[in-house]
Amino acid sequence: MSNKAPFLAALPVMQQLSDHGYQAYFVGGAVRDYLMQRPINDIDMTTSATPDEVEALFDHTIPIGKEHGTINVVWQGDNYEITTFRTEGAYIDHRRPSEVSFVRDLYLDVERRDFTINAIAMDHQFQILDYFNGQQDIQAKVIRTVSNPHARFEEDALRILRGLRFQSQLGFSIDSETYIAMTDLASDISHLAIERIMVELEKLLKGQYVAETFSSLSDLHIWDYLPYFKALPMDRIHVTAPLTLPQFLAIVMTYDIQGVSMKQLKRSNDEIRHAEKLCQAIKQLPNVSTKSAYRQFVYDFGKLLCLELLDMQSLLQANDITQVSPLVFNMQTVEDTWQSLEITSRKQLAIDGKILMQAFNKKAGPWLKDALRRAECAVVQQNIPNDEQEIIEWVKANVKIP
Ligand code: ATP
Ligand code: MG
Repeated sequence: MSNKAPFLAALPVMQQLSDHGYQAYFVGGAVRDYLMQRPINDIDMTTSATPDEVEALFDHTIPIGKEHGTINVVWQGDNYEITTFRTEGAYIDHRRPSEVSFVRDLYLDVERRDFTINAIAMDHQFQILDYFNGQQDIQAKVIRTVSNPHARFEEDALRILRGLRFQSQLGFSIDSETYIAMTDLASDISHLAIERIMVELEKLLKGQYVAETFSSLSDLHIWDYLPYFKALPMDRIHVTAPLTLPQFLAIVMTYDIQGVSMKQLKRSNDEIRHAEKLCQAIKQLPNVSTKSAYRQFVYDFGKLLCLELLDMQSLLQANDITQVSPLVFNMQTVEDTWQSLEITSRKQLAIDGKILMQAFNKKAGPWLKDALRRAECAVVQQNIPNDEQEIIEWVKANVKIP
């Protein structure tokens, strides 16, 4: 399918703006990806209409970033980010501008954008407006800032990370002047909000060309300026293939030191929990040397996590993490072992804490946790059936109860 389709679907939105006398263009990543014949993610538009004017023209709008000029328009179930042409006021502390001013001129809008490849506009007839030779840089596969790189990175140091993110996604090289400015100003990223950094880092890690970009991160000493990472021996971590943020964090966590919390990265609890579980599994892998240990591993970590670990094999190898032989640990054995489990979670165990406390007429205490875990393992290992009476007898005979 031609990658024109998403733009064609958006034309009525543009039409609505131009019917009312406003200019409107496609811009940013969508135009870049269209010219590169890559799949289009989201369609960004830029317009001379102010946010209030955009809101007045459409029935269904969401004022997602109205103070920065962005209104989301929902049109036939699709979502379009429409941003008013704007310039940016003075930058303070190398982060977001202190004020934005809306203007009626496309040139002033693209001039404040980060890279030439992201500063190309396209009108409703697919005519390109390219003030900064972005198409030439796409051809040459170069990432280059719009105008002076020092000035642009001084304004907003996030652009340094964004440039590296585009390198990782597109496999482009970074123009030498742009790269020198990155080197000179890398330390400014310590002023940025960690949430913005993590958005770029997550995209960077998933990029097809991440292996090369990952060396640039070390080369530029990026980790030294980021919370959490700066306390860890990041030079010992190798990234050879695209990976998700939790997968990366799991590898990083294997070098975790006390007193340094991943909470500083301000990611969701779910994501951190997932990374922790992956990390535990990675640390457990070298001990999985028998059939019963393998069975226990598949039970303890679950099928999905095991399959994810399989996906990470080349990464684990690159980081010298001992693995289970591929003869033992593969998709088929994970599936077979999972299918053969009597129980797949503790909830399915025929006893629980309450039943054990009654059976032994004892209050809760450390013994209970121990007894439950050992009973669970005995059922997983098929030493006993998952039956209330049998489990109680087994606990009587095998677990020391104070
Ligand atoms: P993606 O495919 O990930 O959406 P994108 O290039 O569209 O990539 P966005 O973060 O969606 O990236 O930003 C949209 C556009 O806004 C960019 O292409 C660029 O023109 C501009 N832009 C975004 N962030 C900045 C920034 N920090 N400084 C200058 N311009 C920026
Ligand atoms: Mg975008």
